Amino acid sequence: MKALICGGGIAGLALARCLGGHGWEVVVLEKADGLRTHGYMIDFFGPGYTAAEEMGLLPRLQELGYAVDALRYVDEDGRTRAGLSYERFAKAAGGRLISIMRPDLELALYESLPGKVDVRFGTGLTAVTHHPDGATATLTDGTDVAADVVVGADGVHSAVRGLAFGDGEGDRGAQQHGRGEPYVRRLGFHTAAFVFEDPGIHAIGRKNFVLTDTTDRQMGFYSLRDGRVAAFAVHRSADPALPDDPREALRREYGGLGWVVPRALRACPPGHEVYYDLVAQVEVPCWSRGRVTLVGDACYAVSLLAGQGASLGMAGAYLLAEQLAEAPSVGTALRRYEERWRPVVAEKQRAARRGVRWFLPGSQRELRLRRLALRAAALLPGADRYVATALAGRTKGVLRRALR
Ligand SMILES: Cc1cc2nc3c(=O)[nH]c(=O)nc-3n(C[C@H](O)[C@H](O)[C@H](O)COP(=O)(O)OP(=O)(O)OC[C@H]3O[C@@H](n4cnc5c(N)ncnc54)[C@H](O)[C@@H]3O)c2cc1C
Repeated sequence: MKALICGGGIAGLALARCLGGHGWEVVVLEKADGLRTHGYMIDFFGPGYTAAEEMGLLPRLQELGYAVDALRYVDEDGRTRAGLSYERFAKAAGGRLISIMRPDLELALYESLPGKVDVRFGTGLTAVTHHPDGATATLTDGTDVAADVVVGADGVHSAVRGLAFGDGEGDRGAQQHGRGEPYVRRLGFHTAAFVFEDPGIHAIGRKNFVLTDTTDRQMGFYSLRDGRVAAFAVHRSADPALPDDPREALRREYGGLGWVVPRALRACPPGHEVYYDLVAQVEVPCWSRGRVTLVGDACYAVSLLAGQGASLGMAGAYLLAEQLAEAPSVGTALRRYEERWRPVVAEKQRAARRGVRWFLPGSQRELRLRRLALRAAALLPGADRYVATALAGRTKGVLRRALR
């Protein structure tokens, strides 16, 4: 059996790793020219953690991961106004949490690929043709690749979804989000991440994720082991368009935040090295058309508000591979995958939308409430478990239940 996977991110590489392990021939298309070295820090827990354990990846992820002591919200003078102990958060997640840079998670997956997986960097696709027993993709280099299954693991703005699923005309799910990109529900924020060098800021963010305690816009820092600093930013914006120059946009939007933010913005690399996107969820009424299917953000992005997109991408890929390896036909496998995984991601998407105010307060009142909640969590026994559940929803046993 053969799979063509478009997208060599977390979901695509995890699927390639698992299908390759089941003896499938796998081709992965990745539009980037090579593995990324820039990115953002993610908390990796829940079903993706279980999938990584099943794949034997945990030792490598632990090696690449970071020991975070605390998340701290600071004022303009850098004084801590509220915080959350990571040790307690991790304990509430049963100790099954790794803080890791997204490129390092991709690196671990890439290193684990069986030799016969063919990863083609700098390549995408321009067309997908359906057949009764498979599909053919036309690649950007002009060649055709026929496969038993074509998988779009190409993120929120999935090209496979656009080519094989159309523009959403007539889909109720697409129409409910208005005239933007079909199937994409914008949540009213823009987000950005970049990596830069500044020894002073590096000293502040060591073993701590330090964020501005601000309304409507927020910037945070974490110190990397190679001396660089990873910056993360999010601000409220209803604008559906992305800026031509992300660095300029960051300087405009965050320049007034005070503390070390102006310094970080001066050290920000050029726009093409900055990650910048709308914060959005993806809802597709049916994840497969014939032998073309979707996985990860391409069909069920939960958004960074849920803090679990990478985890769900990896776990969904694991589940899809297991179904493809075990089910009597590809059609049955694709149906089972969606039946079992859709309810899990739908619950996370709802939880993320409910948590918007907690994530980025929109007023001084909401900011004060968040500070109070975090202080209570630090003092009351058992409250940290409540906060962890509020942040992450139920995570225990999710993948194992879907696999049954
Ligand atoms: C700031 C931020 C913080 C986050 N924090 C967390 C967190 O703490 N925990 C967590 O679990 N998740 C977190 N997430 C979410 C997580 O990063 C995503 O959900 C996850 O990366 C989705 O994986 P994916 O493989 O489905 O898609 P992506 O990571 O988007 O990968 C898609 C891949 O496809 C490639 N591609 C795209 N189009 C094409 C094309 N046409 N042809 C070929 N290749 C293509 C891209 O280059 C990319 O490599 C965060 C996200 C952001 C933005």
